[in-house]
Parts: sequence; structure tokens; C-alpha cells
Amino acid sequence: MNTTLRHLQAHKRIALVAHDHCKQELIKWCKVHRTALSQHSLYATGTTGHLIHQQTDLTITSLLSGPMGGDQQIGALIAEGKIDILIFFWDPMNAVPHDPDVKALMRVATVWNIPVAMNASTANLLIQSPAFIKEYDIDVPDYDGYLAERLK
Ligand code: PGA
Repeated sequence: MNTTLRHLQAHKRIALVAHDHCKQELIKWCKVHRTALSQHSLYATGTTGHLIHQQTDLTITSLLSGPMGGDQQIGALIAEGKIDILIFFWDPMNAVPHDPDVKALMRVATVWNIPVAMNASTANLLIQSPAFIKEYDIDVPDYDGYLAERLK
């Protein structure tokens, strides 16, 4: 598929999601990086967002809880170009009821080529990147071209 550039602003829109056994790790990560995170707009699935807000006082837009459709809401925002970075601490050791939604979220984040961290070490690398606080261009699918091709 052809691609086009998407310009990410210095001020990023960051989605935070953690499965239950990983929530403490994400909360800890948010505490360590509170100052850096507070410079950006934060979104999260319902439980993750409320817990992070309670324990860090960061301002977060909390969507629905993951099993109730929150992962799909985040995925839709990614597809619409309204989320720039996904921090997703998913649980590799326990099954979750909304596994199809988890896969869908991973898939759509990959389709739209946004930076994704699925563990703390990658999240650390990402947040230390100069691009975390600067403008940054990513290649995204050329949707207009894709559609024009399909309508031929
Ligand atoms: P939660 O959802 O933040 O509401 O727990 C996360 C998830 O399971 O995807």
C-alpha cells in the first residue's frame, strides 16, 4: 500500500492500557514519568485510567473499560488519527475475555504505524526519545489512494 506522511505534534496524544496483572507496573511507570507524561494529552481504558488518575493525579480521558469496549474505542481513535502513541501493557500469562479486541487494537496500531510500547523497557526507550517532546513524522497508509484504487 502507498503511504503518506502524518505529522505528529510535539504535544502527543497518548493512550495507556494495562491488563489487570500489569496495572501496577503501568501505574509505577506513570509515577516515574509523571512530569514527562503531564506535558501530553492522556487517554486510557476505563479501569486503567481511573487507577492512574487516583494514584498520580494525572489528567486522563478514561474511556470504557477494556472488556466493555474500551480497547475498541482506543482502536477507533487510532484509526481516526487521534492517538499518536500507544502504551499497552498486555498480559502474556493470562487469558482475557476480550482477546479479539486486544488483537484488534494491536492490529490497528500496526496498520496506522503509530509508536507502540508493549512492555516497560520499550516504554522507557520511547519516553526518552527526543521525538517524545518534538514534532515527528510517521508514514501512514494513503487512505485516499487506497479508496480510489478500490473504486476503480
Ligand atoms: P481496563 O481495560 O483498563 O478497563 O481494565 C484494559 C483492558 O483490559 O484492555
